[in-house]
Amino acid sequence: MAQSNFNLQQIFSTFNIKETNAAASTGSNWFGREGEVKTSFSPVDGKEIAKVYLATEADYNKLIEKAQEAFQEWRLWPAPRRGEVVRQYSEALRKFKEPLGQLVSYEMGKSYQEGLGEVQEMIDICDFAVGLSRQLHGLTMHSERSKHRMYEQYHPLGVVGIISAFNFPVAVWSWNTALAWVCGDTTIWKPSEKTPLTALACQHILEEVFRKNEVPEGVSCVVMGDYRIGELMSNDKRVPLVSATGSTRMGKKVGAAVGARLGKALLELGGNNAMIISKDADLKLAIIGAVFGAVGTAGQRCTSTRRLIIHEDIYDTVKQKLKDAYKQLSIGNPLDPSNHVGPLIDKEAVEMYKNTLQKVEKEGGKVLVEGGALEGAGYESGCYVKPAVYEVEKHFEVVQQETFAPVLYLLKYSDINEAIAIQNGVPQGLSSAIMTNNLRESELFLSHAGSDCGIANVNIGTSGAEIGGAFGGEKETGGGRESGSDAWKVYMRRQTNTINYGEDLPLAQGIKFNI
Ligand code: NAD
Repeated sequence: MAQSNFNLQQIFSTFNIKETNAAASTGSNWFGREGEVKTSFSPVDGKEIAKVYLATEADYNKLIEKAQEAFQEWRLWPAPRRGEVVRQYSEALRKFKEPLGQLVSYEMGKSYQEGLGEVQEMIDICDFAVGLSRQLHGLTMHSERSKHRMYEQYHPLGVVGIISAFNFPVAVWSWNTALAWVCGDTTIWKPSEKTPLTALACQHILEEVFRKNEVPEGVSCVVMGDYRIGELMSNDKRVPLVSATGSTRMGKKVGAAVGARLGKALLELGGNNAMIISKDADLKLAIIGAVFGAVGTAGQRCTSTRRLIIHEDIYDTVKQKLKDAYKQLSIGNPLDPSNHVGPLIDKEAVEMYKNTLQKVEKEGGKVLVEGGALEGAGYESGCYVKPAVYEVEKHFEVVQQETFAPVLYLLKYSDINEAIAIQNGVPQGLSSAIMTNNLRESELFLSHAGSDCGIANVNIGTSGAEIGGAFGGEKETGGGRESGSDAWKVYMRRQTNTINYGEDLPLAQGIKFNI
């Protein structure tokens, strides 16, 4: 799709975005015009997209009350009936896939293909949740006491607070909501203040489906705001689960606040992902995986490849191939399919990128592919940068940090155990990969002595994931799991039940109590 086909006004009318109020509960009930006004600019061309009211504390409280009230009814709907609503939402998403994908691309700056991919993830998780709505199963176990039955079951939890990051402005919300809704929870979403309009669009798509199905008002709420609304949510006892996606800095604050009130926190935080390239790797796969992982979404994925750990025997070959591949990258408007790399989210992100280049050079990093900010025609937003590659040493401080931009570090190794130690030697633990055709190496990488990340891949890059698996990471990535597998359990309240159908009251562990 060429950029000329993109018509913002048409997209606004598609999603019925007439106003940009601060808060909404499903039921076309938009309100909140007392707070600050934030202007949203596109990183693609720097143009103003819209003005959005930020919610006040009173707006937030009104929404929480609606979500609490709706929970009383929603939790009693049979789970497959809730699943049917999610199925219809997934149908609606199919219908709106293209305009929503365009809006994601224009507001966030990822390529149109990646925007579509993000909407596809929403559809996939909805489909997963529909099946799940008939499988929210517990276990039965044998009691140690005669004529006793024991089992465990899962009940709806309550209001789930969702704080999301700018880089996956819609998919992460769906990962949470599709599961939470079939589990019987209501949700209140605080999208990133950098991507409010995609959130408005999602709520509008949803409204029609919820209205048709007479879903109680307040099952899905959205509240515009910055960290201050996030803080209210983290400290709010009425929100038993806060699912927060974003930087480790943010996660430490949210985790501490939720922990202080003994609530549940699901944290999906920063990554510092590495790919090991063995001397037994298929280099064709390795180079494609590494380049896409490093420059896709302009390096703004939590799973972006930030470090390549390369065997010394093939180090120079890989270096040359990377150099050649980077020469072919075209940087520009992400709505133009001929471009590989779009903009960073804003000028602040460009400053962070520039600081990182300075730091790595100060520490002695050797430039392999030169970076820098881009100016002039096509780059007027001031958000475009060149993907950079540096040769570094593992002890560099900058290598320990996640820079949310296309900066790739090369490290050399001679022994596989050393490579795994380098891979694990950072505070974050999200995604990891090994490229090898050597079974011993790949099995070691996946073993107890291997990668310490939440995601460990063989002959696939670090970037991206399918919705069927549990998604998340260890260490400073926060330990949360979202999406597939049994991630749904965190959205529910677990209960163990013991039933005595005998005539006596035997105590557990053989304890006698004679009266
Ligand atoms: P960010 O931490 O700046 O903001 C994320 C969200 O947290 C925003 O909605 C923001 O308003 C809110 N927030 C900020 N401070 C808060 C506070 N003190 N209390 C409550 N809420 C607060 O992150 P970002 O720049 O939007 O996103 C990039 C980061 O997100 C990267 O570190 C990336 O790795 C991470 N991320 C992780 C995953 C994952 O699944 N692990 C997925 C996407 C992004």
